[in-house]
This record gives sequence, C-alpha cells and structure tokens, in this order.
Amino acid sequence: MNTAAQSTGVLSFEEAYEVVRQHCRRILKAGDRPSEEVLLLQAAGRVMAEAVVADRDFPPFPRATRDGFAVRADDLASGITLLRVVGQVRAGDSYDLPVASGEAVEIMTGAAVPAGADAVVMVEYTERKSAEIKHQGHEGARRGESEDQGAVADDQILDIAGSEKPRLEEKRTEDLVEIQRPSAAGENIVPAGAEARAGQELLPRGARLGSAQIALAAAAGKASLKVYRKPRVAILSTGDELVEVAEKPGPSQIRNSNSYSLAALVVECGGEPVQLPIAPDEEGKLTELIQEGLKADILLLSGGVSMGKFDLVEQTLKSLGAEFFFTGAMIQPGKPVVFGEVGSGAFFGLPGNPVSVMVTFELFARQMVEALSGAEPSRLKSAKAKLNKDFTTKTGLTRFLPARLDGELYDPEVQVVQWQGSGDMLAAARANCYLVVPPDREKLAKGEMVTVVMR
Ligand code: AMP
Ligand code: MG
Repeated sequence: MNTAAQSTGVLSFEEAYEVVRQHCRRILKAGDRPSEEVLLLQAAGRVMAEAVVADRDFPPFPRATRDGFAVRADDLASGITLLRVVGQVRAGDSYDLPVASGEAVEIMTGAAVPAGADAVVMVEYTERKSAEIKHQGHEGARRGESEDQGAVADDQILDIAGSEKPRLEEKRTEDLVEIQRPSAAGENIVPAGAEARAGQELLPRGARLGSAQIALAAAAGKASLKVYRKPRVAILSTGDELVEVAEKPGPSQIRNSNSYSLAALVVECGGEPVQLPIAPDEEGKLTELIQEGLKADILLLSGGVSMGKFDLVEQTLKSLGAEFFFTGAMIQPGKPVVFGEVGSGAFFGLPGNPVSVMVTFELFARQMVEALSGAEPSRLKSAKAKLNKDFTTKTGLTRFLPARLDGELYDPEVQVVQWQGSGDMLAAARANCYLVVPPDREKLAKGEMVTVVMR
C-alpha cells in the first residue's frame, strides 16, 4: 500500500477507498475516545464503549424449542413408545423431579427441560392416551427416591382403555402418551450455556448497537450502557450562489441542500452534524469557516473542489497547511473528491453537485464517521441484481449511478434512474441504490447480473 504522501493525486476508486480505510484503521487503533452512559433504548445506533458480559448462562436452563413431551431418548431407542405423563411444565415454570425411564413431561416452548429428560418430542408426533393402571406396588414411584425408581416397566403399563380388565381392585386412570417417532438425545433442546456461558463476552467494545444487540444487552440485564460519544461532524457548504433553506433565493441563487443531505447521512451513521454557515467563494471568509470546522472531529466541505476560477477550497486548505491524501478519484459522479488533514483534523472536500455529494459521502466519508464513532467501518453494502435494460457508457471511470432495485425476493431487478446528470436531486430521491459500472465496461446487457450499492 502506498504511503499517504505517495497517494497524493487522482486515484482509482479502489485505491482511494483503501486510503480512507487505512485512516479508519489508524483512528480505531488510537482508541481513547470519550464515552457516556445512556439508557438502553437511547443506545440504539450507538457504539459500545465497554463489553457486555453474560451475567448467567445463555440460555440459563436447557430450553425446549417445541411444544411437546420431554422424554429420555434411551427409552425410545429401546422400543418404549408408551410413556407415563407425570407432569407439565410451562414457560416460566419448573418441574423439579427427575424424569425417570418410562416417563414423559408435557412441555411448552421456552420452558426448562426437567432433569433426566434429554429430548423433546414435538406434540405433532404424539398421541395422548389414558389407561387404567395397577396402583399396588406402584406407590412411591413418583417420589423418585432414585432416578430409576420412577421407571415404569412395560408390564406396569396395563390395560389401555378398552382392553382386558385388571384383576386388582385398586386401580386408577393414568395419563399416557404414545410417541410416534424416534427422537435423538438433544432433539428440540438448546442446552444451558450453549449460546454463552456466564462471564463470557456477549458484545465487544466497538459493537454497533442494532436491534439484535440491544436485545442481547436487555437479556443480560443492562438497563443502561456505556457508549462512545458521537463524533462531531462539521458540514461546510461553499458557493456564492447558495442561500439558506429559509431564505428566498434570488433568480440565480439556489438553496443549500447539501448541508442537509450530508447532515442526514451523518445522523444515519451515528455522528452529530454541526452545520456551519454558508461559505462564500472568497478566501478570507472561507479560511475562517474552515478553521471553525476543523475544531470538530472531521470536516465535510461541499463544493469548490473542481477546476473553476472560484473553486477555492483546495488552495485555501493548502494555505492552512493541509496534507492531501488524494485530490480526486476516477469515479462518476464525484471525481474531484479530496481527502486530507490539517494537523490532526481530517477533512473531505466533496464536489458540490447534489448527487456527487451523496455518492462520495457513501463511498468515502461514511467509513470515517463510523471509525470516529468507535466502530469498525461497515463494508459497502453491495448486492447483485438483474439489469432490466441495456446500458452503455464510456470506459475509464467507476460509475455509481442512481438506480432502483425492485423485483421479487429471488429475482431482484435493477434499473438506472433517468437523470439530468449529477446535479439532479430528483433522480437521487427516486433511487434506492447505485448501479456500479466497472471502469472497463462500455456496455452492460439487459439480463446481466450487475452490482449495486445499497443506500
Ligand atoms: P461546485 O462543486 O462548487 O462547482 O458546484 C457544483 C454544482 O453543485 C453547482 O451547480 C452548484 O450550484 C451546486 N451546489 C454546490 N453546493 C451546493 C449546495 N450546498 N447545495 C446544492 N447545490 C450545490
Ligand atoms: Mg461552487
């Protein structure tokens, strides 16, 4: 890999991506960022500043995963298929006697499998029966003085209703269950501690808290969590033509929408946006606002990085002593994107066109914001889909074109959104992904499986 200094210039997409990734690794390695304790739900989307450890086994007891009967698999293996139902255990309950040979306990999903039982037979494979059973000599069987005492030998289960009458006067009806399928030990049971042992790490430091991670923290009894403080991301839009959203634009002015697309993206990936006032295309005021922005954890500039006479961002950064890691990437849209540092403050100069700003954020800035929030940057969320129409372009640039992913679950289809170029915000709003066109491809054919990047 090139060093930062060698990387200066216009890079291929892959090179530029890797340069940013390298910086992310450096940021993560440096560690040492402020944290705060927040309520569990407020931690959604945040990043763990300390590991969550299991306060007990997960699951805490052997968990039945089906409604049915807890049995001893050995019984079934040895041909015993008619078992005495000696109890019932619902989720939240326990059945405290060991299940002996010849016995079954009716059990519900989520309940603790009683000792002695080692398989749960699904209720669908069983049939309840009742029988009259000799009482004599059988007293104490349920006391379970030893595991085997509860055993009901084949000859003790007598007289299925309707069959031959018992000779003894003392009789009672007993619940039986016929097991209609063999069952192996362990079937439909998750053993205690199979997911995690007490004391084991459930969530590492640096984990992003999505719904599954929040659930895990909740299950471990964490009502609040220590998370990293959100990185502050300064957003500075440049351009003499810009007015703030609430202002009435003159005939040749436009509203500063980039500040909002960027702020929304920053929020989405766990940062705190700091929207600075619009910077005019004038070096004095621009310098002042850039200096303000560099106080944040990272500065995102929009506009002013092309080759025009009033594109002053690069030269202003240079006069502030900036080191540039790259000053362009062979992509469309977004080719003029720049990445660098002033002192220890990183910045991206993103091209001003509304689609370019979103694409370059997605490709490069997102991972930096993620790293600054203490999380391993997520990879680009790419997927394959079938192109629904021929597409022709020129070679040389990796293209990320606004597109729509539709179609069925097993047959995703993508179509390029009609657009008027990288200033077309409406196209961006109609899109739900970017179609990726590799730099060596002139034509993508209808029906071809192509790559998209989700957003
Ligand atoms: P620039 O990169 O400064 O040359 O700007 C390229 C195009 O993007 C021009 O048409 C600008 O008017 C437009 N543009 C620049 N900044 C913004 C912004 N903050 N919001 C919306 N459009 C912008
Ligand atoms: Mg401009």
